[in-house]
This record gives sequence, C-alpha cells and structure tokens, in this order.
Amino acid sequence: MSNITSIDKEYVAGTYNRFPIEISHGKGSEVYDTDGKRYIDMGTGIGVTAFGIADDEWKNAVVDQLSKVQHMSNLYYTEPCARLAKLLCEKTGMSKVFFGNSGAEANECAIKVARKYAADKKGKDYFTIITLENSFHGRTLTTLAATGQEHYHELFCPLTPGFVHTPANDFDALVKTAESNKTAAIMIECIQGEGGVLPLEADFVKKTAQYAAENDIILIVDEVQTGNGRTGEMYAYMNFGIKPDVVSTAKGLGGGLPIGAVLLSDKVKNVLGFGDHGSTFGGNPVSSAGAISIVERIDDKLLAEVKSKSKYIFDELSGADGVEAVSGMGFMIGIKTKKPAGDVVKACMENGVLCLTAKDKVRLLPSLNIPMDILKEAVAVIKSACAQ
Ligand SMILES: *Cc1c(COP(=O)(O)O)cnc(C)c1O
Repeated sequence: MSNITSIDKEYVAGTYNRFPIEISHGKGSEVYDTDGKRYIDMGTGIGVTAFGIADDEWKNAVVDQLSKVQHMSNLYYTEPCARLAKLLCEKTGMSKVFFGNSGAEANECAIKVARKYAADKKGKDYFTIITLENSFHGRTLTTLAATGQEHYHELFCPLTPGFVHTPANDFDALVKTAESNKTAAIMIECIQGEGGVLPLEADFVKKTAQYAAENDIILIVDEVQTGNGRTGEMYAYMNFGIKPDVVSTAKGLGGGLPIGAVLLSDKVKNVLGFGDHGSTFGGNPVSSAGAISIVERIDDKLLAEVKSKSKYIFDELSGADGVEAVSGMGFMIGIKTKKPAGDVVKACMENGVLCLTAKDKVRLLPSLNIPMDILKEAVAVIKSACAQ
C-alpha cells in the first residue's frame, strides 16, 4: 500500500470505498495515476468535470477570477454571480437564481421555496413534499427524507417530516398521494441517476406537470445530475416539453468547483425574501466564473454532438455480447450487464477506462466534449469487459 493510501485510510473518514488507484493529473478525458498509467475518464467525477480535466477555458476563467477576488460574501455585489444568474435565466426562461454549494443544498432551498409558497398561498399545514420511490436527492437529513430509498434512511431517523414517496410512472398513485396529503410540491428527477439511470416515462412526466400546475402544487425538478447539457438538452426537463416551477442543479454546473443553483420560475421568484435563506459561499466568485465558462459553451452545436456521440454508444452497446439493456439519454447512460456491474467496472479500470456504477448498472457520464477517437477507444474496452 502506498504512503498516501495508508494516510488516507487512517485519517479520512471511512465513508468511501475507494478504488486502489491514486489519480495525480489529467487533461480533457484522460487521467493518469501515480504509476503513470493512463485512463479514459468515463465518470467525470460523477458528472462534474463537464468539459474534462484541467480544461483550458475553464481554468483560465477560474485563475483570472482567483487573481482578482476569491470570496467576498453575499454582503456585496460581485460580477461572476450576477452574470451567471443572468446566463442561466436566459438559457432556460427561468426568472431568478439562488446559489449554494452542492446538490443537496440546492434541493434544501428548492424544498424551502415550495413550503413557503404553499404556506403563504394555502396555509402552513400544506407542507407535504411528494417524491418518487427509488429517487435520490442528497445526504442531508431533509434530502435523505426526500430520497425514496429506505436503505439510506435506516440509521439516521428521525428524518425531516413531511415527505411521502409514490411509485415512478404511476400517475394515478401520484394523484391519490397528492389528494390524501396537504401537498406543497412534487419533486422528480427526469432520469433517476443513482437509482439506476432510469428515465421517467414521458407521459407520466407530462401528466404530473399538468396536474401540479392545475392544483397550484410546486413542481421541483432535481437536475443535479441530469442538468447542464448532460442529457443532450440544457436541462433534462426540456426533453419532456414541461415547465417546472423550480429546478435544482449542481454537479456539472461548476465544471469541477463546488456550486449548486436553484432556478426559480416567475411564479416563485419572489417567494424567498431578505433573511429567508442564505449561504456563506453561495455565488462564490471563483466557482461562478468557472460555471460561466461551462454554461456559455453549452450551445446547440455542443448538444447536437452529445446526442450523436450518445447514439454511437447506444448503437455499439445495445445487443452486444454480455449486455442486457442500455438506458438513459445523451451522456447519462446505464448499461445492464450479464456480469455483475462491479466486475465490469473493475475489468474496465484494469484496461484503462474509468466507469461508474448505479445500482445494478454500469454508468457512463463522459465529458460533454470527449473527442470521438477517445470515446471509441473507451467503448471498445467497455464492450470487451461486458463480453462473457
Ligand atoms: C448527486 C445528486 C444529489 C446530491 O448532490 P451533492 O452535491 O452530492 O449534495 C442530489 N440529487 C441528485 C439527482 C444527484 O444525482
């Protein structure tokens, strides 16, 4: 065991089951370990390094801002935060943005917006948030309560009250749940990521959005993983032709620095007022400057490339030896393999490709600009790792 591995094992809290490699550096979609071995990065730090490792444009934006001012708190105006908020609104038609530092923190804010809206509009007893079974919304006690997977809850009860779960793609069950509770919001991932890369059925998403609108129930779409170009649209909800009231996002938004955002539609843009919410690091100038360089480059041309490269992956892997099914959209792909997913990921790593898992699937979240030749190389390795 190397020195760093043993120090980490002794001093870093044991919440992660790390693979036995130490990454030292990289460029774009290629990373190297401390033995000098090269890997193609098909996981991007769980969908975070949207334009790859040490991407020049992102790095320049970050370094430029670092040499001006790295943090000022939200007591003052700073340019990157304001510009990023405007850019996100222009790209989505949303009206205002709240910035935090992570996906869970974005979801906490989204939930607060929904509860305050419902309290103001319908009464304080309208606090129930409906989420879907098999969902994932984060690790804080409130976002754990939102997460519809019991095994995450077990040892941490009592969780924040007021959350109920209903099966995905069962619209009648959702309506029943909404009617038997005083419902503030419905919260969905358009593609359940941690749950196994499972896109919701389009009909269910549309009916849910319509039902929420008709009943003045806030529709929150959790785009922490699916957002920022990942699915071949700027946000995954755009694949479904719906208009959420609140969108939470994080992961790929910052290109590698911590940032989370909550996009607020016109209906809810003024729900939170002075003192209702805050975050010391929220809208940090360096994270925001990096995020601007990411969001500016997610244009129609890039999204079309994501879609066509995604089709390549689907075409290559669907029906391949040892592959049972391929799910997902754009560059958020789940592969149901005949071998256990963990074994496939291990074989890929040995052969120089880093992949993720999601439940029983192998999960791919490559960088949005992965070059075609590198993608082909990675897919060939994945294919042979899946083969019986
Ligand atoms: C990763 C993820 C989160 C949690 O994000 P953190 O930044 O780890 O807090 C929440 N929702 C979804 C859908 C995610 O994929």
